[in-house]
Amino acid sequence: MNSQIYDLKGHTKDELVEILNRMGEPRFRATQLFKWIYQKGVTDFSRMTDISKLSQRKFDAAFIPESVSIVTAETSRDGTVKYLYRLADGKAVEGVLIPDPPRLTLCVSTQVGCRMGCAFCKTARMGWFRNLSAGEIVDQVCQVNTHIGPRRKVTNIVFMGMGEPLDNLENTLKAIEILGSAEGLQFSHRRLTVSTCGLVNKLTGLGNITKRFRLAVSLNAADDEIRDRLMPINRKYPIARLLEACRTISLRNRERITFEYVLLKDVNDRQKDAKALVKLFHGVKVKINLIPFNETEGIPFARPSDATILKFQKILLDAHMTAIIRDSRGDDISAACGQLATADATTLPPSSHPLPGSRGQCESVLDPPPL
Ligand code: SF4
Repeated sequence: MNSQIYDLKGHTKDELVEILNRMGEPRFRATQLFKWIYQKGVTDFSRMTDISKLSQRKFDAAFIPESVSIVTAETSRDGTVKYLYRLADGKAVEGVLIPDPPRLTLCVSTQVGCRMGCAFCKTARMGWFRNLSAGEIVDQVCQVNTHIGPRRKVTNIVFMGMGEPLDNLENTLKAIEILGSAEGLQFSHRRLTVSTCGLVNKLTGLGNITKRFRLAVSLNAADDEIRDRLMPINRKYPIARLLEACRTISLRNRERITFEYVLLKDVNDRQKDAKALVKLFHGVKVKINLIPFNETEGIPFARPSDATILKFQKILLDAHMTAIIRDSRGDDISAACGQLATADATTLPPSSHPLPGSRGQCESVLDPPPL
């Protein structure tokens, strides 16, 4: 008798084959389950019409269908939606859905809090509570698909929510494999972006795995003195080591690593900072995303003026670099970059069910977001 309980969305297809095999189920059952769960959005086994009643009862006892539930969905003036998700242990994380037709991008969290301590980031103020499981990462996408469905689906995923994905590497990579499965949600590498603050020890070990997603590196300064102040990780892995690690990353043809640069007034937005950036990447093809700081209560930085931002960008463009100013989205509901934090990370009441299904709550608590 197999009495183990499994998180339904926390396993790759191969792992599910193994689990089902131990339950005496045929191999093709894993494909059937993947299609029901991810393509049709059905996790109620009794609705899986091509699976026998006997197997449905077995699965009911063995699998927990959902590990994340949506508590609130707040819609910004620009259509951005900030989600608050409850986890089974009562902890909470946030995510952001950004409509940018035809894309519908979901920013997912990989940890409850973060221990990287970036000075401009609200998540850092929470500290670190725990890693999310692969199932909890995948389920953020599934819950949002259910919430906005049935005619719309998340098209792109960015691992830029709460937490440092490479600090939870194993679960992040497993989630990427599940999300990319041909029988599941079929996210190709082009539609998955992992953003890191620069964990060099993890970056150097990635090898070919990086071909499964696009990589973005949060740089934010062209010299170590400024980066040390903004990002404590730089004291361990200074810029030269970070760039050396980036050179070991396997990229597809014509692909480039994106470097993110949060522009902070009078800190890293001066013309000499832009020139230092040009010098740093001399002769290297990179893409720079310039992100004007989203002012956040309790974080002692300001957004540069539009004129300063444009001047900074012009210096990069004149040096033939690709430099894009990223729109600030959802800042009125604290959903913009660096603004995610759940003050109540440890205080949401745990659900009475160990890992609750959220669909019912979702429909009763929330209105569909006007995308
Ligand atoms: S910016 Fe990213 S890595 Fe840095 S503290 Fe915030 S969540 Fe963590």
